[in-house]
Amino acid sequence: MKIAFIGLGNMGGGMAANLAKAGHEVHAFDLSAEALAKAGENGCSPFTTVPEAVAGVDAVVTMLPNGGIVKAVYTNDVIGKAPKGALFLDCSTIDLATAREVAALAVEAGYEMADAPVSGGIAAANGGTLTFMVGASDATFEKAKAVLEPMAKAVIHAGDVGAGQVAKMCNNMLLAIHMIGTCEALALAEKAGLDPQKFYEISSKSTGYCWSLNDYTPAPGIGAASPADNDYAGGFASALMLKDLRLAMEGAATAGATVPMGEHAKAIYEAFVADGGGNKDFGAIFTTL
Ligand code: NAD
Repeated sequence: MKIAFIGLGNMGGGMAANLAKAGHEVHAFDLSAEALAKAGENGCSPFTTVPEAVAGVDAVVTMLPNGGIVKAVYTNDVIGKAPKGALFLDCSTIDLATAREVAALAVEAGYEMADAPVSGGIAAANGGTLTFMVGASDATFEKAKAVLEPMAKAVIHAGDVGAGQVAKMCNNMLLAIHMIGTCEALALAEKAGLDPQKFYEISSKSTGYCWSLNDYTPAPGIGAASPADNDYAGGFASALMLKDLRLAMEGAATAGATVPMGEHAKAIYEAFVADGGGNKDFGAIFTTL
């Protein structure tokens, strides 16, 4: 298959390489010359403009920073330039309203489009083990699955267009909330006189178990290995968690949902990022308690 891949950053670079490894002809584009050159080394064909990259392709995959950029790339350079009938897959994490708007514009112009945001970080992008949550019709999902599989551990049909972004924002809001709760419980255990390793052993087998505690313990030297053991370097940056919480709060406002814990989690990450913690793994909230 001929696939255009636009946005070859931390995530997109590895994803495009995995599509090339699976035997697809990957037309790569990024504004960064460095990212483009790296894609060339990884088996992709570098292109210098988006319209050239999408000419004659079967599918276009985008992995871009935000909704404004996604909308600009599709409306200026993809819609009307890619062959009619091509499949568009936006894997970026963006606001729900833009995801639905861009998909509607694409469909109106004779294309198929799905939102397909991912769970899993840079290591999963490089290793081809991302989880894709896909918002699309049944027919579009089947086509999307074939394109996404070389990059995936799991490809899940969330529902109609937009449902992938809904799944992503709900998952990451929940993740932020249980991460903060895990940090608070570990700090309280220690301050109240319980060895935090003992607390981990007990709560990870009790009703407090959750991914943040069991698999990504945010206290250095306690429980499961995580970025906490490396001064919170690597992992999932707090600035990216804040981005996802802002999208979730926007989505909640539009949907009329009440999310007091989500609002509070957003305020906690906002303060942490304002204090210079944006590049630290999101488990570093532990250091503030
Ligand atoms: P990144 O900043 O590393 O990469 C984005 C790339 O897009 C950059 O290379 C940039 O040059 C390129 N770009 C920006 N504007 C462009 C344009 N107009 N045309 C072409 N290229 C353009 O970001 P990332 O970490 O790879 O994240 C990409 C998306 O994946 C985001 O939506 C993010 O929220 C989501 N995501 C990231 C992670 C993570 O752990 N990094 C995990 C899950 C989801």
